[in-house]
Amino acid sequence: MTLPELLAPAGNLEKLKIAFRFGADAVFVGGKVFGLRKYADNFDLTELKAGVDLANQLGKQVYVVLNGFAHEADMDALHDHLAELEAIQPHGFIISDMGVFQLAKRLTTIPLHVSTQASVTNAAACQFWKEAGASRIILAREVSVAECREILAEVETELEVFVHGAMCASYSGKCVISNYSAGRDSNRGGCVQSCRHPYHVADDHGPDAAYTRHIMNAKDLNALMLLPEIVQSGIASLKIEGRMKSNLYLANSVRAYRLALDAIANGLEGDALQDHLTRLSTDLSLVSNRQFTTGGVDHPLDADSVNRDFGHYEKSIELVGTVKETSDQWIWVDLKGGLMVSDTLGVLGETGHHPLPFDEIRSYAGRVLPHGNPNSVIQLAKTFECQPLDILYKQVSHAH
Ligand code: SF4
Repeated sequence: MTLPELLAPAGNLEKLKIAFRFGADAVFVGGKVFGLRKYADNFDLTELKAGVDLANQLGKQVYVVLNGFAHEADMDALHDHLAELEAIQPHGFIISDMGVFQLAKRLTTIPLHVSTQASVTNAAACQFWKEAGASRIILAREVSVAECREILAEVETELEVFVHGAMCASYSGKCVISNYSAGRDSNRGGCVQSCRHPYHVADDHGPDAAYTRHIMNAKDLNALMLLPEIVQSGIASLKIEGRMKSNLYLANSVRAYRLALDAIANGLEGDALQDHLTRLSTDLSLVSNRQFTTGGVDHPLDADSVNRDFGHYEKSIELVGTVKETSDQWIWVDLKGGLMVSDTLGVLGETGHHPLPFDEIRSYAGRVLPHGNPNSVIQLAKTFECQPLDILYKQVSHAH
């Protein structure tokens, strides 16, 4: 059995390392321009080179996202950027704009992946892009696994689909709500998630019928339980979404999909496989989500694909920080969120989720602190065997 590639988001170099450590075969990263995630950290060229070098050592892949729609004013910079990227030799570009595709084909030797933003939904479109030089097609999010099988019966090409992460109310990411609400262009990396807000809705029956609801708040995709069918379909790559999501989301989701894919490869079947997938799915729902749907993958998006009544995230754990260094007795943690001595800590490492009891917080240099401040480095007693790039989290007492 050939397992599909597990492809994870990497918003920065640390996330790239975490994704590889927890089992991703490949990552997608944004450059400083043309990456459609203006507010992710993104990679400068030095970081990108370091990421590609690491991937080459590990036998993994780094794909660079160039999926903005370029305007004339962008073209000179794009020429220069492509030349810089050619020197670094990432393992693929993810592109939606035909102009960018043509330029990348002419100016570089990098394999070209057609982005989901290009809204490819049928075999004829795959054939078109294949003849244009694409080595992989990332299908529109609206294409089901059954349709992928039909496409693969007609066209021999690598297909990639989304399996996990935030969905949105646009068609394959094409949206102008943020342009209208905030003057930011979603199609050039400026989405401000305007669809997540509550909207005041009135109908023909007058003001009494007015109500406020999150009418466009798409649930998150979670196709973990469908992996056996997806693996059977011959799809080449499975993408987890979320370059701006936390280290905890990244490690937790990559680990769950890695374990699920490996279990399938190792021949786990029937009830035992279903039980395993159900346990892993429970792990996925620990971390912030907008409730889950399989809409788009096994059935068309529908009313159940939207979380109308709830504009926030559900979670039972949240990120505290990432382990930077360890000694025999101590761990040093890069704190992202604050930490109180009364918090209940857990650690996510390669062997899974474990409690991390602690009764004092120390500064980097070892001074006892009343609490840990966000964006500082603290020292904790090593009450469980931790490694650098393990993820610390705390229990949240109620859903947010
Ligand atoms: S505003 Fe919402 S629907 Fe539009 S691109 Fe952003 S997340 Fe998608």
